[in-house]
Amino acid sequence: MVNFADLNYLDLKQIISNIFLNLDKKKISMRTNQIWKFYYQKGYFDPKLFSNLPEEILQKLKEEINFDRPKIKNKQISNDGTIKWLLELNDKNLVETVYIPSDNHATLCISSQVGCTLNCKFCHTGVQPLVKNLSAHEIVNQILIAKDELKEWDKEKKINNIVYMGMGEPFYNFENIKKSIEILKDMNGLGFSNKRITVSTSGISPNIKKAAKEIGTYLALSLHAPNNKIRDSIMPINKKYNIEDVIKHCKEYAIENGEKIFIEYVLLKDVNDSEECAKQLSKIMSQFPCKLNLIQFNPWPGVKYKTSSTEQTSKFMNIIKGYGHIVTIRKSRGDDILGACGQLKTASEREKRLTLLK
Ligand code: SAH
Ligand code: SF4
Repeated sequence: MVNFADLNYLDLKQIISNIFLNLDKKKISMRTNQIWKFYYQKGYFDPKLFSNLPEEILQKLKEEINFDRPKIKNKQISNDGTIKWLLELNDKNLVETVYIPSDNHATLCISSQVGCTLNCKFCHTGVQPLVKNLSAHEIVNQILIAKDELKEWDKEKKINNIVYMGMGEPFYNFENIKKSIEILKDMNGLGFSNKRITVSTSGISPNIKKAAKEIGTYLALSLHAPNNKIRDSIMPINKKYNIEDVIKHCKEYAIENGEKIFIEYVLLKDVNDSEECAKQLSKIMSQFPCKLNLIQFNPWPGVKYKTSSTEQTSKFMNIIKGYGHIVTIRKSRGDDILGACGQLKTASEREKRLTLLK
């Protein structure tokens, strides 16, 4: 049975018209609107909360559509206000969703896969083998659960931006993330515009090209190295899609979409943080519209890399700025609960082990 959050507006309308063959077009639109708004604007996840709907309609809806949501298995709140939810999907797999508030806005970081195939050496998720691609409803429900938890349905919006930067490589789950974004963007529903959504990729070239045409949100590229030698050594995917190839597609994306690409660059001490690396990176940045997000490396148990010093980070940043590029530094958030970038996985693995022991 299809889950409600797997449907876009037109899918829902189709189901309603299949169920109620006797309704005229106007009534079908009216019912679809009502139900869509109950679900996505009021946050009613149980059809019994859909007031004013005849019992017969509710009954039929429940027969056709599954309204289940993942369960919250664990919730951790960091000293800095970051919240991490560990969600248990219907098939018992676990994913993590992280809410990151800052002074004047808040971001929700969502997962696109359970685990990841790409094995980037500095990323904790990469250590966990891919278990599965999340379906559209498992992606959309991360947002609905966070909204529920933050009690933001009727009051002011607390989540301003959605970033596909949690567990997994979004572009290896292309159709489902595309569907989830379509649902997020529905203006009669959650109403996130392209400018409030960022998809982060490690550089899956063919799908960058596809996303430029079919998705259109902001794009972040996890570059993390200024040349192929270093990138090969920390990101195995570079052997398939190297820097030149990925940059070519990012350039096309930026032109198609009219926005700069965010380059993400985790500074790893003595690996990619030298002044020479900064110069090489500046040259790459000159090739297409982009801005740089320098990320403090978040260590995790067993990792061989170290965080660059504050001094080296400033030096690196100033060199890039000297070439006229825009640079920001992303400070670590939620690292006391392993909710920071690249730290997602520990809790789910631990939980899995505990479940096996039960
Ligand atoms: N797979 C996608 C999206 C998820 S990773 C991608 O790689 O872009 C989200 C971001 O966190 C990426 O930029 C990733 O490189 C970064 N990241 C991974 N491990 C990290 C770590 N240990 N410390 C800081 N950032 C990390
Ligand atoms: Fe996968 Fe992204 Fe982590 Fe690389 S950085 S292992 S692509 S989640």
